Formats: sequence, C-alpha cells, structure tokens
Amino acid sequence: MKVFKFGGASVKDAAAVRNVGAIMQVQSVPANFILVVVSAMGKTTNALEQVFDKAFYQQDYQPALSQVQEYHNQIIKELFAEQHPVYEQVEELFQLLTEYLQTINPAALYDLQYDQVVSYGELLASIILKNYLQAVNLPSTWLDCRQVIRTDRIWREARLDWPETETKIKAVVKPLLETTHVITQGFLGGTDEGLTTTLGREGSDYSAAIFAHCLPAESVTIWKDVAGLLNADPKLFPDPILYPEISYQETVEMAYYGASVIHPKTIKPLANSHIPLYVKSFLNPEASGTIIHDCQHENITPAFIVKPHQCLISFQEKDYAFINESNLSTIFAALAQYRFKINLMQNSAISFSICTDYEANRLEMFRQSLQDQFNIHYNTRLTLFTIKNYDEPSVARLTQNQTILLEQRSRTTFQFVSKE
Ligand code: ASP
Ligand code: MG
Repeated sequence: MKVFKFGGASVKDAAAVRNVGAIMQVQSVPANFILVVVSAMGKTTNALEQVFDKAFYQQDYQPALSQVQEYHNQIIKELFAEQHPVYEQVEELFQLLTEYLQTINPAALYDLQYDQVVSYGELLASIILKNYLQAVNLPSTWLDCRQVIRTDRIWREARLDWPETETKIKAVVKPLLETTHVITQGFLGGTDEGLTTTLGREGSDYSAAIFAHCLPAESVTIWKDVAGLLNADPKLFPDPILYPEISYQETVEMAYYGASVIHPKTIKPLANSHIPLYVKSFLNPEASGTIIHDCQHENITPAFIVKPHQCLISFQEKDYAFINESNLSTIFAALAQYRFKINLMQNSAISFSICTDYEANRLEMFRQSLQDQFNIHYNTRLTLFTIKNYDEPSVARLTQNQTILLEQRSRTTFQFVSKE
C-alpha cells in the first residue's frame, strides 16, 4: 500500500489533472492500490478564504464565489463529456457551499465557520480527480476523510485524535484499498459532532502522513513542481542543490525553520513508523527525486531557509528589574495562550526577545494581556534567515548587505533576523 499526495499545483488545470492520471497509470501495478490525498486545485484555498472573509463581514461575496465555480467548471468541461455525472456532483457541492454561506453569522466564531467554507476546495478537487481516474479506467473510490480523520475543535489548526483516527482508517480505508484506489482530501478533519476542521494551511502533506502511519503504508510520495527536496527555495536562490537522500531529522528541522517544501508536522508520524517519504516532480515523474528516511550524514550541503513576515518582540520589566524565570513563565504562558510559535529567542539582563510570525490582531491582544507587567516593543517587516549545517563561506554569502538585528549560532545552525 502506498500513499500519494498531489498538491494544488499538480491539479491546477485540466492538463495537470491528465498528468496526474498518467502518473497513476504508470505507478499503479495491478492489485497494488494507492491512497491518493489531494489538495484544492491551484489557488482555490486562497480564493475561498476571500469568499468566506467577505461573507463574514457582510460584503458581496457572490463575484468571488462565481469565479471559484467557473474555474472548476472550466476544468471539468475540458475533462469530461457533457452528460458525465461529475457535473451534478460538482454542482451539488456548490449548492451546499452556497447554502452554508447564507447562514454565516458574524456573531459566531470566525474560525469555525472558516473551516466549513474553505474545506470545499479539497472536496471539489477530490471529486473531480476520482471521476477522472475512473474515466481512464483506474478503479477509484471517493472517501470523505472527515469520516476517519478525527480531531478536536481547535478550528484552523485542529489536533488529531490519533487512536480514533487509526481505528477508523484501519476499519474503513484499509479494506477499500484491497480492490480500488482511494481518492481523498488533504487538509481536512472532522469532529465527533460532524463539523469540519482543517489542519493548518498547507496541511495536506500532514494528511498523507496520517493515513500512511495509520494504515500503515509502505511509503509516501509527495508530488511537487520541484525536482525534490532542495537546499534552498529556487525562487530565492539561483542554483539550488537537490538532496538525493536526507534523514527525517534534517528534514524536520528544515521544515521547522520555515522551508516551505514540506509541512512541518509531516515527518513525525512517518519517522515513528519508519515509512520512507519520497519527494518527486510531477513534471518529471521518472526522475528519482529525494528519499527522506532513516540515514546518517557524514557531511551535508548547507540548507538556506528564509522565513519572511517576522516580528521581533522584546520584553522589559517596568522597573528595570532582571528578567527572571518567573517573568519568563508569564511570557511563555501568554505566548501559548495566543498560539505564538517562537522561531528564535534571546535573553539578556533586563530584556527578553523573541522572533515570531507577524500577525497584527493576535499580537495586539497578546500585548494588551501583558502590558501591565512589561514594557513591550516590537519591530515588524523582518526576515528570519537560517543556514543549517553552515560553513563560513555560506554565512558570508548570506549576511552581506543585510541589516542584522539579532544573530545566533549553534554548532550546526546559524540564524539571524534582518530588515526586509
Ligand atoms: N489547500 C490547502 C492550502 O492551500 C492545503 C494544502 O494545500 O496543503 O493550504
Ligand atoms: Mg498547497
């Protein structure tokens, strides 16, 4: 049993969907069925975020919604003959979405209602892909992943109920895979009450890992528009180098520091059950790409990771007292409460600083909760640079022409925060 994950770019138009069909034809040996996890097509999640935001703030969302609908209709028109049942299925999903949008309540939770809306991207993509695979004679069954991926009610960042999920995947999904490919959604989960949750933006990789861990699968392949795992983002660095092989630990750390290639939560469930993760290009499926698994590295090419939209928050006691452990515990409790992730921190005698993703609203609430106790200053429009497995030439190359606000190094990792 294998798990494949196809991201938004791999199903962004009709030609891309055909290409996924071709990959499935080549990869699926008879009687060896694949669980396919698919993301929303192209930029659909962003588009649905816009639709939802307008609906929530009582603005006209209809034009934005129509665009999403036309985009999907155009894709199915190119893929299917006129009478195909897919038209009705897609229509029905838009019907349900429209009905839900009419019930949106600005007095109710934003995040809860967000999840109910943006989840349609994955539902649409998976319905369309399942129909297409059937049309090219690949036995395929659609699975609503919300039946098996059980989560808590932390909207937009739901956490898994692992035992429940594992039981359900073993009971429902495993038997299906004996006779058919199973096409399901990334990014989504469901609560006991039947509400939809999401696992965090770009969470479809994590979904693939959840299924693989619970089945268990022999491997996971993430099909991307890059050749594999690279040591830098090709959009930011001219000549990135491909890692043919890399350990789970190196990958987890790269994802943690902000490498956008794999969702950070993906690795743990795979590493725990020693399931290899392949990262391959859907544009060049024959190329070997990267294998992420248990391995040792003697020396490894430095990785360059850039995390934009950072802010640096510094805390001082009002009376210039030292920052002590009890102050720190107050600060950490508030950080946890407002769900800030510390990307870097530094302590000095009278001041404590953290670098975190910038989010204006939450930062303001956080600041207010602590303002009686601390003087809090922050800088925004910052970037966090990380070099994993750095050497001096790589540090010199990355730091030139930068205005550095804070810098740190360990034996393996060099990091600095600089102005955008
Ligand atoms: N469609 C979701 C997103 O864009 C999940 C994913 O692509 O992994 O965030
Ligand atoms: Mg995506």
